[in-house]
Amino acid sequence: MARADQRKKALGKKPVLWRKQHGVLIAAAVVVLAAAVLLGGCSTAGGKLFGYSELLMDTDIELQFYCRSSGESRRVKQALFNEMGRLEQLLSCSDPGSEVSAINRAAGKEPVPVSPETAAVIRKALECSSISSGAFDPTIAPLLERWGFREGRYRIPPPEELAQFRAVVDYRLLEAKDGAIYLPRAGMALDLGGIAKGYIVDRGLDLLAEAGISHALINAGGDVGILGPKADGSSWRVGLKHPRGGGIIAVIPRDKRGAIVTSGDYERFFEEDGVRYQHILDPRTGMPASALLSVTVVAPTAVEADALSTALFVLGPQRGLALVENLPEVEAVMITPQLELLISSGLRGLVERSGE
Ligand code: ADP
Ligand code: MG
Repeated sequence: MARADQRKKALGKKPVLWRKQHGVLIAAAVVVLAAAVLLGGCSTAGGKLFGYSELLMDTDIELQFYCRSSGESRRVKQALFNEMGRLEQLLSCSDPGSEVSAINRAAGKEPVPVSPETAAVIRKALECSSISSGAFDPTIAPLLERWGFREGRYRIPPPEELAQFRAVVDYRLLEAKDGAIYLPRAGMALDLGGIAKGYIVDRGLDLLAEAGISHALINAGGDVGILGPKADGSSWRVGLKHPRGGGIIAVIPRDKRGAIVTSGDYERFFEEDGVRYQHILDPRTGMPASALLSVTVVAPTAVEADALSTALFVLGPQRGLALVENLPEVEAVMITPQLELLISSGLRGLVERSGE
């Protein structure tokens, strides 16, 4: 499958940025086998495996599903990418025409009515903020801006600047009611970069299920959504990228609907004086979280797996694992700076280590 490899270098003494290599790869080739179940619409009975990819959300979206005819598969694929593109436009933080940008422009002025989709993502984001005690915070945008992660002008903000931004980074200030969102302080801003992709993958899986598909996988640059097993009943195998090498460090199998989402410090970062500064910030300190190299979360939905992978990255190994052990059907694999794999109880014995 094609992979985005958009390696960019800033000029002169500016920091170097490596933008987006896939956090997760599909490790095993998918074998085409006949399915046993007959469903309406794009039935998978006698289905063939179709694979597509499309550049959306700043990444290559990989889509694989079993379907009876190529005409039907093309129709479904197009509907899926159209819907994912529509949601990306609503939720984007960089597009001035998005609902999120409208909310940000109205900060300190007035509530902004939003679509049910935007309201749902914000509700999910606040839930994750609350269970992670604020490690995940969708109002992190002003801090991301100070570090230059929003527009690509990377810098290390002085401590007094970071202190000043505490007043506008706090999810508890956000007001959501009657289908409208309000950021009550001027200077507040939302960034849904830690959760939107997961939500969009879930909606993609819904669309596939509604089209009668029962064996599918969507990989949105490390946010992997899975629908059922492969057509022969076996598990999809999702490989976790080695955070400091090119290969796969471990494989997680899954054979039912759910998500496997990775956040890594190798996805978006710059280096200055030999120190790596990556894009997941700790809202308490204003600094990039640095206790882990990578966090993979397995959960029933991609929206929660996405937000939680970002949250656990901030919480670090002890608090992160403690949180996961308290959440039903949520599991995690964390990779420490010593390249140790910390695996939550429900995944032990299931994660397959690869040779490094
Ligand atoms: P990716 O899409 O690159 O896999 P992640 O899901 O790991 O990203 O989330 C990282 C993104 O989340 C950042 O680029 C930023 O937009 C946002 N973010 C950074 N820190 C936080 C935080 N503490 N809480 C919520 N969102 C964050
Ligand atoms: Mg995330």
